[in-house]
Amino acid sequence: MYEGAIQDLIDELGRLPGVGPKSAQRIAFHVLSADPADVNRLSTALRKVKELVRFCTTCFNVAESEQCRVCRDTRRTSEVLCVVEEPKDVVAIERTNEFRGRYHVLGGAINPLEGIGPDNLRIRELLMRLGTGEVKELILATDPNTEGEATATYLALMVKPMGIAVTRLASGLPVGGDLEYADEITLGRAFEGRRAV
Ligand SMILES: [Zn+2]
Repeated sequence: MYEGAIQDLIDELGRLPGVGPKSAQRIAFHVLSADPADVNRLSTALRKVKELVRFCTTCFNVAESEQCRVCRDTRRTSEVLCVVEEPKDVVAIERTNEFRGRYHVLGGAINPLEGIGPDNLRIRELLMRLGTGEVKELILATDPNTEGEATATYLALMVKPMGIAVTRLASGLPVGGDLEYADEITLGRAFEGRRAV
């Protein structure tokens, strides 16, 4: 335990995901000895992300204006819509260069143990988008774990009666894993091999 500001910083860093007590301490002492200009850039970046970044009004991806970069891109097709859990999954799929459609970010997955049901996700907004009739195929790209599968199953049941083709990412993705940790090739193959559900 240290006194004052350095301990405050260690405590705050330790609350970040994936940062244990030892890493928190290492980062805090790195900041302490770093160039003031570098530390200023870091603190500005932290402040700006809260000030400037918001959610796209169409797909709920992160954006710095009304709509995100994907929604603003007129070269992309609106006939294929890919459903993901989080904005980081959009980035993961974009890295594969396999997909030229649009996205819908749910903001999580159905998880009864944590009290997250369909109403806590952006499913109502998804169904409204599908209601326009523009979408011909819905790709369910939720994580290949229990919650992601439950969410995909729920969405398939809701959407299939609307006459829209519903597909799920294919094998190759590690079960129990997180979409964001899949490498480009694995995720790309899974995309190509998606199947009807
Ligand atoms: Zn968007």
